[in-house]
Amino acid sequence: MPELEGEHAFVGELVGDRAAAWDVSGELPLDLLHKLGARGLLCAEVPASFGGRGASSLESGEFTAYVGSLCSSLRSVMTSHGIVAHTVRRFGDRTQRRRFLAELTAGKIAGVGFSEPGAGSDLSAMQTRIEPDGDSFVVNGEKKWLTVARYADYLLVLGRHGDAAAAALIPKDTPGVQLTLVENPMGCRAAGHADVRFDNVRIPAEYVLGGGGQSMSMLFTTALSYGRMSIAWGCVGIIRACLQAAGTHAQNRSQAGVALAEHQLVRRHLAELFLAEQASTRVCEHASRRWDAAAPDMGVMAVLAKHTSATGAARSAATAVQLLGSAGAQDGHVVARAFRDAKLMELIEGSNEISQLILADHVLSVTG
Ligand SMILES: Cc1cc2nc3c(=O)[nH]c(=O)nc-3n(C[C@H](O)[C@H](O)[C@H](O)COP(=O)(O)OP(=O)(O)OC[C@H]3O[C@@H](n4cnc5c(N)ncnc54)[C@H](O)[C@@H]3O)c2cc1C
Repeated sequence: MPELEGEHAFVGELVGDRAAAWDVSGELPLDLLHKLGARGLLCAEVPASFGGRGASSLESGEFTAYVGSLCSSLRSVMTSHGIVAHTVRRFGDRTQRRRFLAELTAGKIAGVGFSEPGAGSDLSAMQTRIEPDGDSFVVNGEKKWLTVARYADYLLVLGRHGDAAAAALIPKDTPGVQLTLVENPMGCRAAGHADVRFDNVRIPAEYVLGGGGQSMSMLFTTALSYGRMSIAWGCVGIIRACLQAAGTHAQNRSQAGVALAEHQLVRRHLAELFLAEQASTRVCEHASRRWDAAAPDMGVMAVLAKHTSATGAARSAATAVQLLGSAGAQDGHVVARAFRDAKLMELIEGSNEISQLILADHVLSVTG
């Protein structure tokens, strides 16, 4: 882990104490994203042969947790950008991998669009079309809540292609791409979410990964699995931030003549936070090891990790807000941000319910 561990200080210094202000203003500084991107830190698992940092999932996970402990909006940018890089690695041809991974590790920023007005949990209802027309492709459709869209150079759009699927990397300034920023999101407020319309957007064939004709379920599973790993580790970071804030406050604030930490019911909160942090970390470590080994159960372990960490983060953030009382009950405060950010992690990359359905399918497949 040494190489990325050295980057903690770099990111820590860049972020400083500004995450609260970004949460309130709803915007991240673009130059900061470019600095991180140009060091390959927004998609650290891209191999060195393609210009990346070549980090394992475990190394990248611990780094993601650190960023998640500082600012979930920034971590969301890492997750989305990382999904794009992972999808390019898996579905791009040799020329596309060389070109786009070099750009994604040199400062260009990217986000990914799956969700549509009629396709949330059920992505098979997707209507966006990516169809060949002469020597180019034309994209028509509408994507919802696309993280990073505000800052992105590229939008990776997943759509229908004949009876199959395709993933197109669309430069955001292409004519026909129209963004509407999501106003006042409940959490991850500075992550640059937008709804995006694509009206007859014409792109050269070399921007469609592998030329199209992909299996829709393979495309979704590949992209979402990376996102689940990243969110899982990001939620470990949220829990760690809550643990730190709660532990410090419990020792520094006194009520009824003693530190809060002397009250048994407050100590129970601290124990619960520690339990959540340890359980989520261990499950994430296990999932990352399975991912690094390309084990057959890597996909289901990613779901297990995401579900454990997201539910752990939502519960831990509520506990931390409770423990801090009015001291944490303000926009921008680390536990207030955690409370809003963590709740949204229970909705995305497969909601709690969708995760439970996948885990139940796994149980049935191994007990049948
Ligand atoms: C902060 C944030 C960032 C996002 N970023 C992106 C992004 O970058 N790219 C992108 O494409 N999308 C993004 N999204 C959209 C996100 O992927 C969807 O919100 C998510 O897939 C859930 O879809 P939905 O909101 O339409 O909810 P729905 O699918 O309508 O679900 C609503 C509720 O019904 C439940 N439900 C649905 N189906 C079932 C079922 N079969 N069984 C049981 N319960 C069910 C769900 O669990 C949920 O509780 C983002 C959303 C948020 C909030």
